[in-house]
Amino acid sequence: MKYRELNIQTQREFPNNARTQGFGWLVRAGYITRENEILPLGEQVAKQIHDSIPTLSNERETYFQLSTGSTEIIHCPSCKYAERRELAQFIKTPFSDEAPLAVEKILTPDCPTIEALANFLSIPKEKTAKALMFTRVADSRFVFVVVRGDMTLSEEKLRRAVGDVRMATAEEIQSAGAAAGYASPIGLKGALIVVDDLIPRSPNLAAGANDAGYHLVNTNYGRDYSAEIVTDLIQADAGHLCAKCNHALELTSALLLSSASEIYFENILLALAETHHDDKGLTLPKSAAPFDVYLMHVPGKQMDTRAQAEEIYQTLKSAGVKVLFDDRDERAGVKFNDADLIGCPIRITAGEKALREDKVEVKGRMSAQVELVERNALVEYALKA
Ligand SMILES: [Zn+2]
Repeated sequence: MKYRELNIQTQREFPNNARTQGFGWLVRAGYITRENEILPLGEQVAKQIHDSIPTLSNERETYFQLSTGSTEIIHCPSCKYAERRELAQFIKTPFSDEAPLAVEKILTPDCPTIEALANFLSIPKEKTAKALMFTRVADSRFVFVVVRGDMTLSEEKLRRAVGDVRMATAEEIQSAGAAAGYASPIGLKGALIVVDDLIPRSPNLAAGANDAGYHLVNTNYGRDYSAEIVTDLIQADAGHLCAKCNHALELTSALLLSSASEIYFENILLALAETHHDDKGLTLPKSAAPFDVYLMHVPGKQMDTRAQAEEIYQTLKSAGVKVLFDDRDERAGVKFNDADLIGCPIRITAGEKALREDKVEVKGRMSAQVELVERNALVEYALKA
């Protein structure tokens, strides 16, 4: 492929909207636009990704860890478990195994939050029941969710259990018989009660009394109320224990590289650029580079070096080497810069002096050395590099 056919536009400056180094290099090297559209050079890469990127994956999706990535994932450094945060599994440990005590209604003024309640009662948040109230979109049924006070609901897990929901309005909460800030499922009529699977193993929780300003202490699932659905509803967090191997889980930002139905080429390119660049541009491995060789000529004084380079181009191409031939009559420095930016593994330079001895200059992208290689040994060199 020739440089001019690909319409490559390299850039001298980092784009001012670059969120990461990798993105900046991709734009400067002409793989993508500032608007993150893939250019022909990027398409060459996307066609042939192999194992050049360290990834995390599960049976549905593949991720690349990146601090600016928009997908939060939970992963286990020990067994490599990886999952979107909102769906990740972890081990839940009951806070206590004490016997159920008698329920008691107590005055708890100004305690509409878990923090305030735990402070007021001098108990840990683990001993409280957090109430979250929704309305199911499909049938407008009031959905009352209970999770332990120290935990965070995963709305995605709730959705998978009951279908789409929205936050309940003040009117809906009132007509269900609940009191906002002081709510519990005890005594509600007609509500779809859904509790996290840790709740039946959590005795003597403080919960709302459905009476503003009052809570019940020592509520117990099974004795005081029960649920239509008991399932895992909790969002995983860093430090939770892996359900597969018990190791502490980590929370990280990532790019989604592929799902069961789609491959996200822009993200794959970005992941490649993040892991393969130096201070001059991209440094792509052969398995991911759009071309094996960046071939260029340095305009000669007496010799038509471009015609010689064209011959080399044809020879390499017919031997199966993927070549990007920079056939522009630019200064050598400009082409060297572009070669470094674009990041093909090998650069071959056809210059007058070496050509007189039937040789060309060859330099690996990651190497500081320039070698002289016989023209008739070039195919073999390029194929094994
Ligand atoms: Zn694990």
